[in-house]
Amino acid sequence: MSKKMYEWLFPSLSLLLFVTLLGAMLLETNTMTMKALISYSTGLLAFTMMLVVTFIGSRPRFIEKNFGMPEMYEVHALMSVVLSILIVIHMLLQWGGFRNVMNMSIISQTGFIAVVALIIVMFTGIFSLSGIFVSNNKKLREFKETKLNREINLWLHRLAIVSIIAVYFHLYFLPFLQQNVIFMTLLNIYTIATLGYYAYWKIKVAIAPEFKVSNIYRGTPSLWVIEFEPVSKHILRYTAGDYFFIRFIGDANITKEGHPFSTSSAITSRYKNSIEFMIKEAGDWTGALQNIKVGDKAKLEGPYGHFLPEKVEYSNEEDVPFILLAGGIGLTPNLSVLRHEIEKKSQRRIILVWGLSYKEDMFMLDELDAMKEVNPNFSYHIIFSNEEVEGYPFGFISDSFLREIGAAEFYQTGEFFVCGPPAMLNATRTLIKNANIPEEHVHLDDFGF
Ligand SMILES: Cc1cc2nc3c(=O)[nH]c(=O)nc-3n(C[C@H](O)[C@H](O)[C@H](O)COP(=O)(O)OP(=O)(O)OC[C@H]3O[C@@H](n4cnc5c(N)ncnc54)[C@H](O)[C@@H]3O)c2cc1C
Repeated sequence: MSKKMYEWLFPSLSLLLFVTLLGAMLLETNTMTMKALISYSTGLLAFTMMLVVTFIGSRPRFIEKNFGMPEMYEVHALMSVVLSILIVIHMLLQWGGFRNVMNMSIISQTGFIAVVALIIVMFTGIFSLSGIFVSNNKKLREFKETKLNREINLWLHRLAIVSIIAVYFHLYFLPFLQQNVIFMTLLNIYTIATLGYYAYWKIKVAIAPEFKVSNIYRGTPSLWVIEFEPVSKHILRYTAGDYFFIRFIGDANITKEGHPFSTSSAITSRYKNSIEFMIKEAGDWTGALQNIKVGDKAKLEGPYGHFLPEKVEYSNEEDVPFILLAGGIGLTPNLSVLRHEIEKKSQRRIILVWGLSYKEDMFMLDELDAMKEVNPNFSYHIIFSNEEVEGYPFGFISDSFLREIGAAEFYQTGEFFVCGPPAMLNATRTLIKNANIPEEHVHLDDFGF
């Protein structure tokens, strides 16, 4: 299934649930005014979208590995906006004036609870959790970064479950629906399946094996290299370039929410029973890594991601070159792919292009040089954008730079792996489009949901 088809998967799923519920409702309803039909339709469609949006929030791996988490969260955000509009229409059609909540019918009370919870869910989603709505507005970005605590907002966002339960009872208490066996059966199946999957995901995270920090050090003044080992004999399977949510537990002196990070290690003889991450200081949580010490425990939720698809991983070394384009900390999934290839003793043509801001961001050169010994077809090129560094080119990763280093000759045959900050990703997307690099040969890791 292509990415485009995945984009429509979730809206189509909610439409399917909606059509079956509405069909069941109409089957046993003799007459209904147009106003009531629109009101019930908007309410029901909003509810089925809430179910699907919650399902997306449960990070179903079997979909994520083909579609991608950032893409899934984008659909999650857009569907949430649409369902809010539907709820406003539903409320306007049902509006009976301002009343004391205590004097309302149970149907109105459950509707009221659902809406209040949903307002909080929407506020936290739009202003704190999702980057989509605030990333283009400096004032909103500042508000998000300085005034909102992500961990508290994440907890408040979970009121979505309260909202779903309230809507369930809102429907359940409608006398004409209570008698409708087909409707009630479908309503129960859809609600229980969604909440059940959500609970399954939470339990899976809670019972995930524990890891302990086996090594932590600063790779550069603003970058931590952190390695975990399983506490028990558990061996972790993942594909190069995958990512995990790291959530510290126990005495670790850091807040306990999970943060996503790509692996910089791959399953190799060096990392046969450990996993390594490279983390750039970006805010509160990453800043608090200075409090972390060897022995601190964490749970790793994952793996997620599809940076290195199986088909590409096992592609013919002689025919398929890898071009790795990394902006700053975007090195991590690329390094993982590189370490995996070197471990296999692959003689594939691999070109790593690493864009850095300052000289102090440069590290790992010993390992990169050692890789050249194992695979003489591997080369790396560092380019600085904010500081002139002797012996290195100055500028950004661009078409002309790729031509200069000989990477452009692989525009049609190579597999392109791209990861970096938003500006670098956008510039690279344009480069890829202008260079007519086939879309299916581009593997992009976006560090923002
Ligand atoms: C798939 C993926 C892989 C990543 N891999 C790496 C990596 O290998 N190395 C690295 O240094 N960084 C990586 N990041 C970015 C990293 O997750 C954030 O920099 C980090 O979570 C910031 O947390 P903070 O509290 O320090 O900063 P904050 O100031 O709270 O956040 C900075 C930005 O990071 C994002 N962010 C914060 N918390 C979360 C969260 N819990 N979930 C999702 N996004 C969040 C938000 O967009 C926020 O605006 C990755 C992000 C994603 C989505």
